[in-house]
Amino acid sequence: MKRTADSLASHSIRALEPTNPGQISSEALRALGVGDPVWLGSNENAFGPSPRALEAMASALQSVNRYPDGGTQALRARLARKLDLSAEHFIFGNGTNELLDLLARAFLSPGDEALYAHPAFVAYDAVVAAVGGAKVRVPLLDFTHDLLSMADAITARTKLIFVANPNNPTGTCVRPEEIERFMSRVPDTAIVVFDEAYGEYLPASLASNTLRFVRAELPVVVLRTFSKVYGLAGLRIGYAVAPPEIISVLNRLRQPFNVNVLAQHAALAALDDDAHLDRCLRLNDEGRSFLAQRLREMGFEVVPSVTNFILVNVKQSGPLLAKALLRHGVVVQPLARAGLPESLRITVGTCDENRRLLAALQAELATTAEKAAG
Ligand SMILES: *Cc1c(COP(=O)(O)O)cnc(C)c1O
Repeated sequence: MKRTADSLASHSIRALEPTNPGQISSEALRALGVGDPVWLGSNENAFGPSPRALEAMASALQSVNRYPDGGTQALRARLARKLDLSAEHFIFGNGTNELLDLLARAFLSPGDEALYAHPAFVAYDAVVAAVGGAKVRVPLLDFTHDLLSMADAITARTKLIFVANPNNPTGTCVRPEEIERFMSRVPDTAIVVFDEAYGEYLPASLASNTLRFVRAELPVVVLRTFSKVYGLAGLRIGYAVAPPEIISVLNRLRQPFNVNVLAQHAALAALDDDAHLDRCLRLNDEGRSFLAQRLREMGFEVVPSVTNFILVNVKQSGPLLAKALLRHGVVVQPLARAGLPESLRITVGTCDENRRLLAALQAELATTAEKAAG
């Protein structure tokens, strides 16, 4: 090529980072001699999908020669009943990541501002940059959204406000009364996107009733996913709840068959398996308390979490420690690029996985201590 592809790319695309630059593959781990990795780097549900979801997929396998229902009608009807809204309040996506992308493309013109916390979910940067939007990032206060400062940062150009609640990578949430106060200060020229990927993990006392804003026809979008507590991350399915006018704008941009057949069947079945959900929540609670306590005993600082992962200050280089853990077959998330160079984000695993993580950490700490002693 005479011209580089980069110079042909549109202006906003040239500045973008490649997607998933640091993602670790099973092959790469096998090359390190690891046959049985412990995946604690992506906040997946270690306890697996609902058996009902698996059965539903098995029966749907025969029909994968057909396109999926492009309107995800069964799912939207099911959720409308469950959440006391209408089917017109829902849109499904190939993961909530797709919906974030659609929101940015639909509502941000070049130069429009998207407001969110720092650090927050990494996907916000990518979708905003891709459409030439201006990132306005408000630092967290004590690892939690600083909604007062965020409200102060709203301008006439603010079009989208992302609030990850609970937040990733910190595992913290904001209290319902803080959300109420924040909403009273948001003008109707901005759309507030509550990203509730970990919402199911919240105890009732901390769960904000954000659907109330949708019912009141405010410019609010609530995002939920089947990737976390529902244990279906590999299928890629999530949804947005919003007033029908907003859903209708997103539907204009959406690919006609964006959610695959197996994902639709699995998600529908998973919604009917409360027992599995309760079991996952209980096991996650136990694993999280166990991990947090052990990590504190090892001298690390642990941010209290309401999710299925823990932010840990390891008081040394996070990327180097994460790399060392890989040799033990344990995958965790370093956060240097999120501005937390001495922290790791560690997903709650099964009992066995948590123990393997702790053993690997112990071994690495011992090595560091030996080196220090010379
Ligand atoms: C994991 C996660 C999501 C879910 O993304 P999917 O595309 O649905 O898998 C969304 N938001 C946050 C904050 C997350 O951590």
